[in-house]
Amino acid sequence: MRFGGVVKRKRVVVIGAGAAGLAAAERLVAGNADVAILEASDRVGGRIRSLEGFADIPIELGAEEVHGLENCLVPLVGQAGAELLRHETVHDYIRYDGKLISLEAARAGEDLREAFEFVANVSHYDGPAWTVEQYLVARHVPGHAWHYLDSRLGVEHGTTLDRLGMRGFVGYERNWQLREENYTVRQPYVRLLDPLLAVVQDRIRFGATVARIEWGGVEVVVRLAGGEQRRADAVIFTGSVAVLRDGGPEFVPALPPEKREAVASIGMDGGMKILLKFRKRFWPADMYFLHSDTFLPQFWNPGKGRGGRTHVLTAFVSGTRADFLRNLEIDLVEFALGELDRVFGERVASGNFKEAYVADWTMEPFIRGLYSFPLAQTEPRHREALAAPLGGVLHFAGEATDMEGHSGTVHGAIASGRRAAAEILETAGLSAGCRS
Ligand SMILES: Cc1cc2nc3c(=O)[nH]c(=O)nc-3n(C[C@H](O)[C@H](O)[C@H](O)COP(=O)(O)OP(=O)(O)OC[C@H]3O[C@@H](n4cnc5c(N)ncnc54)[C@H](O)[C@@H]3O)c2cc1C
Repeated sequence: MRFGGVVKRKRVVVIGAGAAGLAAAERLVAGNADVAILEASDRVGGRIRSLEGFADIPIELGAEEVHGLENCLVPLVGQAGAELLRHETVHDYIRYDGKLISLEAARAGEDLREAFEFVANVSHYDGPAWTVEQYLVARHVPGHAWHYLDSRLGVEHGTTLDRLGMRGFVGYERNWQLREENYTVRQPYVRLLDPLLAVVQDRIRFGATVARIEWGGVEVVVRLAGGEQRRADAVIFTGSVAVLRDGGPEFVPALPPEKREAVASIGMDGGMKILLKFRKRFWPADMYFLHSDTFLPQFWNPGKGRGGRTHVLTAFVSGTRADFLRNLEIDLVEFALGELDRVFGERVASGNFKEAYVADWTMEPFIRGLYSFPLAQTEPRHREALAAPLGGVLHFAGEATDMEGHSGTVHGAIASGRRAAAEILETAGLSAGCRS
């Protein structure tokens, strides 16, 4: 901005030091803005968090895979000195009706034909605003196909089939299918953010919970929980859609109706990872994912291809199943071991158990769940309304604001942060594919 020949640097406050916030701040610094990042927790990464010391490799509590090679996370992988390891679905297993068979064998057989056909054709859906479960029930899809889909689609989207909307797949499927091409890294996943962090590290203030955002004037006043306030020419809020839904900071004036409708219309459910360490391996040597017809729908071997020697399985449950389990108030570790005993045989898992770690993302006060997904009623306009800036001063980023089918991912979050930074710098926006 130029006043009488003096160039005034834009003061920008970025709320959140997750992937979106760091990516936004890095672009703003490059654009010569005066940037401060306020982060409520005591660490960077948000929904990217690596657990070190549990096994001989880092185990991911949040994001674990890089989805596809055509996105803006991939250049950061190279800059961070990390190496992508391809996850081949040939190493996936399915358990149904007491059988444990490879995904390849299941594909060649008849039993799960309806499930594979559903996955192949879901993008052509033009029916009513149903959930996937409503569709499957109306089609009399058998239980074993239903269970596979609950893991393959429900868990993949951080929910359960009774919440996942059919229409969300329309026009979205191409990018969703890119998630077929998955990679992991040997390094802690959070290290992939290092190239961004190198630029913005000294601008982050931790333990800084934003309680109120006053955005009605030419500048924004951001008030912290302790009462301190900061003034800025622009603010980018990157907290999750569940944080906005469940209260979040107070906005003054209140968010307009279309923003509130968007928040209420985009799904984001709870979920947890249960990490289980064993004395020895009892699952097939080549197994990566296990899609199971037990109550816990999905297990995987996080060490696969990453050179770990510790025997660890991750159990993942989301949506209404995760809520159901939490409300039962049972011992989650014992429950998970019981599920594995059912799959692999009497006391095979429980008899070899060493140690566990439970990461319940629903209980994280500044995240409150997994990641956004389409409900039955979600329409593309809801993501547009969530992303729309207000009053020329209040901007929104974060994975849920992605409009090109990359929501729920790290690269979608990065692209959204860069889009919001471009709005402020008034430079050309980047596409979410983020080909820069
Ligand atoms: C279990 C799990 C598995 C996943 N697996 C994958 C995967 O394999 N691949 C993939 O690409 N993606 C995966 N994701 C999704 C991915 O992690 C997210 O899409 C992405 O990290 C979101 O980044 P973000 O910056 O939008 O939000 P966040 O990471 O949520 O960052 C927002 C930040 O804002 C802070 N904040 C919120 N409110 C306030 C406030 N009032 N004041 C100050 N700070 C505040 C929060 O503390 C947080 O640090 C997974 C997520 C989870 C939870």
